[in-house]
Amino acid sequence: MMKANPHHGKLPRPDPPETGIWSQFLHRTRALFSVLRTGRRMAWATLAPLTVAATDARPPVGAPSLEIPIDCQVGVECFVQNFVDVDPSPDYLDFSCGHLSYDGHKGTDFRLPDLPSMHHGVIVRAAAPGVIRAVRDGMPDISVRDADPESIKGREAGNAVAIRHAQGWETQYSHMRKGSVSVKPGQKVLAGDKLGLVGLSGQTEFPHLHFAVRHDGKPIDPFSGLPMGRGCGDTDNALWSQAAASQLSYLATGLLGNGFTDAIPKAEQARAGKHSHATLPGDAPLIIYWVDVFGTQTGDVQRMRLSAPDGTVLASAEQVLDRTQAQRFSYIGKRLRAPSWPPGTYRAEYTLSRRQDGKTETVVRGSRRVEVLPE
Ligand SMILES: [Zn+2]
Repeated sequence: MMKANPHHGKLPRPDPPETGIWSQFLHRTRALFSVLRTGRRMAWATLAPLTVAATDARPPVGAPSLEIPIDCQVGVECFVQNFVDVDPSPDYLDFSCGHLSYDGHKGTDFRLPDLPSMHHGVIVRAAAPGVIRAVRDGMPDISVRDADPESIKGREAGNAVAIRHAQGWETQYSHMRKGSVSVKPGQKVLAGDKLGLVGLSGQTEFPHLHFAVRHDGKPIDPFSGLPMGRGCGDTDNALWSQAAASQLSYLATGLLGNGFTDAIPKAEQARAGKHSHATLPGDAPLIIYWVDVFGTQTGDVQRMRLSAPDGTVLASAEQVLDRTQAQRFSYIGKRLRAPSWPPGTYRAEYTLSRRQDGKTETVVRGSRRVEVLPE
């Protein structure tokens, strides 16, 4: 499984900006599946006590009140894939003592579920008022897996904007879409002003906004208001505005997508918008149902089932997961063994169950159907 482990650099020297106007709207209608946000969803106030004592005076001087830096419904249209790593050891933890981070991660990754969402255009917005310090644009939107490492060396942040706020505070917005950066150094911005669009530039494998907050150059976790490495559980001085905090419930695990296809799917292809068919031909060589989930954990039980129009189960799978993964792509299917498939509606269901607090809960549920056409 691919590891969501992009490295994000600071904006070193700003390149001249290329500005562009893009139309932007995010319309994601995904019939027949729902993200259940029951797993580890919690309010800031109910978090566990500190695991590492924070001794600094708090809140940090002049901390800005932050608005959400991306124009999508977090937890539905986009997801926080990785938080700041608050664990000082080579291990990692997010601010809530969960596993949505990786060692040394210095920002908050707001990810889009797939490339079609990126192509629709999702706006990146200034989180707080300030002055643009640096911008970079012109880097291509390609996965780091397909890029020449030399082409991103020293430019890991990709197309990016850095904003200087009062009293040594700075925010940076990385991996933006080529040609989308719409601000210039020296320009004043207000919270909510458009900076550009979410992209796939620099050191990244999936379209996302890496949002970094710094005070006097040191990375700060906006969910705690504390510098990196101070342990989890203390959110008393989170930097989010009340409005932003109310939209940023912690979602440990969620459904990125699911769909039907007639060929063995690769995760990257599905995330690029392929393998999502509403109909399949009667002579399709395969009928396959795939699911893409983020934040799976060791011990989770995953179940998948594919049924024919008459209710016959064509394929099913149950698996106890043996590791914790940032994202997990799975599929089941059946090969055509007759001249054609019986036409009609084929259905598939997915559940991910987790044992927590002494009981088993379904933390992700997906379902989908496809029409197989008569031959
Ligand atoms: Zn990141």
